[in-house]
Amino acid sequence: MSKVIVSSLYDSDVFRMACRQFDKAADAINLPESIRDRTKYPRRTFAVALPIRRDDGSITVFEGYRVQHNLTTGPAKGGIRFHQHVTLGEVAALAMWMSWKTSLVGLPYGGAKGGVIVDPNQLSLGELERLSRRYMQELIPFIGPHVDVPAPDVGTNEKVMAWMMDTYSNHVGHIVPGIVTGKPISIGGSQGRREATGAGIAYLITKYLADLKIPVRKATVAIQGFGNVGSEAAVALDHYGLKIIAISDHTAAFYNPKGINIKKALAFVRSQRVLKDFDGGEEITNAELLELKCTVLAPCALERVITPENAPKLKCRIIAEGANGPTTFQADRIIEEREDIELIPDVLCNSGGVIVSYFEWCQNLQNFYWTREEVLTKLFAILDRAKDSVEFQKRKFKFSRRLAALTLGIQRVADAKIARGLFP
Ligand code: NAD
Repeated sequence: MSKVIVSSLYDSDVFRMACRQFDKAADAINLPESIRDRTKYPRRTFAVALPIRRDDGSITVFEGYRVQHNLTTGPAKGGIRFHQHVTLGEVAALAMWMSWKTSLVGLPYGGAKGGVIVDPNQLSLGELERLSRRYMQELIPFIGPHVDVPAPDVGTNEKVMAWMMDTYSNHVGHIVPGIVTGKPISIGGSQGRREATGAGIAYLITKYLADLKIPVRKATVAIQGFGNVGSEAAVALDHYGLKIIAISDHTAAFYNPKGINIKKALAFVRSQRVLKDFDGGEEITNAELLELKCTVLAPCALERVITPENAPKLKCRIIAEGANGPTTFQADRIIEEREDIELIPDVLCNSGGVIVSYFEWCQNLQNFYWTREEVLTKLFAILDRAKDSVEFQKRKFKFSRRLAALTLGIQRVADAKIARGLFP
C-alpha cells in the first residue's frame, strides 16, 4: 500500500485541478492504491536561476523550472513556457497532462514541461536569446534526445528552439537536432510542425461536426488566443469552410458575425505583434467572446478560463480545448450535467502538436526527412485512432469524454510502471 503524499512543492489551483482529474480517473478504473501516487506525482523537478546580461549592462536573474513527470514510457516530452505568471505548480500540472496525452495517442514518450517566469514581450531579441541559451545551458545535465525532449509552448517559438538546440549542440560538439522539437526546417524541423497543433484541432472539430451531422459551412467558431495554436487552428478551420466569428489575444477581442478575415488578422499580428487596434470586427471583451453564440468555442490561450461562473452561460455546441487545462474541474461538472455541449478534451484535442513533434524527433534520429503530405497523413491517422479509442471507452463505461481520454492515458502509464517495477 503506498502512502499518500500531500505535495506542498507543487501546491496551486492548477496542480490541484490536475490531481482531482487524476483521482477521478483513477477511481473510475479502480487503479490499485499501490500504483496511484507514483503514477500521479512528478518523477523529478529542476529549479534553475538564470542570470542574464541586459542590453543596458545590468544583470537580471530569472527563475526557471523543468518538471519531468514520467519517464517510464519513453523520454520525457513537453514544451517550455515563457510567461510572467509561470509557477512550479502550473509547470507540474502541464507536465502531468503531457504524460496522459502522449500515452493516450500511443507515443513512446513520457511527459514533461518547462517554464521561465518572464514576460518575453519585455525582452529585446538579444535578451531573449541569452535567456533561452542560459535556460538550456542549465538543463544540459538533465536532458537529452533519449531523456527529455523540450518543444515550444506559450511565449516560445521556433527561434527559441533554434537557440536551445545550438546551445546543446555546441556543448556536445556536434549537431544534435533531436534535443528539441518545433525547430526551424533549416536545422531539422519537420514539415507541418508549425501548424500541427492547430491543424489537428481543426481536423478533430470537423470529425465531431460530422458526428453531430452539422455541415462545416453552417458552423461558426470563436477562438480565444491567437498565438501558434489559435491562429493555426483559425487558418485550418477557415480552409475547411467554417466561419470564424471571433478571435482574441491578451490585448483585445473582436467579433464579426459575417466572419473575420483570417489572412488579414494574421498579417496584422505579423506586423503589430498583437491584435490590439485590429479593424476586422467589433471590439468585445475576452469574457464576452467565451459566451458568444457559436457552434464551436476554441479556448487556445491559457488554463482555467471556463469556470463555474461562465460554464452555465456558454452558448456553443462544441468546446475544442486547444489550450491545456482551459476548463476548471467544477466547470467540467457543470458542462457534463448540461448535456448540450460536446467537449473535446485537451489531451486529445491539442495532441497534434506532440504527435508531429514525435515525427520531427523520428526524422532527426534517422536523418531521413518526410514530406508535408506524409506528415499530415500520418498525423490524421493517429488522431482518428485516438478519437475512436476515446469514443469506444466513453460508450463502454458511460464516461464523459474527458474521463474516457484520461483513463486511457493514465492506465497505460500505470501498466508500464507495473511492468517495469518500482524504479522508473
Ligand atoms: P502562444 O504564446 O503562441 O500564444 C498564446 C496566445 O494566447 C497569444 O495570442 C496570447 O496573446 C493569448 N493570450 C494570453 N493570455 C490571454 C488571455 N488572458 N486572454 C486571451 N488571450 C490570451 O502559445 P501557444 O503555443 O499558441 O499555446 C497556447 C495554448 O496551447 C497553451 O495552453 C499551450 O500549452 C497549448 N498547446 C500548445 C502547443 C504548441 O504546439 N504550441 C501544443 C499543445 C498545446
